[in-house]
Amino acid sequence: MGYMKEKVAYLRGLAEGMEIGGDNKGKLLNLMLETMDEMATALDDNELAMQEFDECIDDIYEELDTLSDYVFDEDEDEDYFDEDDFVEVECPHCGETVYFDQEMLEGDDLICPNCNETILPKED
Ligand SMILES: [Zn+2]
Repeated sequence: MGYMKEKVAYLRGLAEGMEIGGDNKGKLLNLMLETMDEMATALDDNELAMQEFDECIDDIYEELDTLSDYVFDEDEDEDYFDEDDFVEVECPHCGETVYFDQEMLEGDDLICPNCNETILPKED
């Protein structure tokens, strides 16, 4: 039982103990107690719904956390910041050692920054 329901139940018990109910004032009081009881039920239901809503939000946040962990793991750690992705290439024209990342190797011709000649990536 919710807090509001408990309070109304207490009032109802008090009214019954005072033997109120026979005359018109008693009828009014009982009607008020019934109305309060319905309001209390609605309030407690709302409170319950809000709690469920809160739990739902918590679940969504957890899902988002998991999702962002996954996304950052995939993108930042592996694709962008992994030093293993850099490939060491010796320029056949000037002998200078230059570094390219994997994405550059898969793209167009590589240009040596030292002598500006085209370097063909070595096939392993
Ligand atoms: Zn070169």
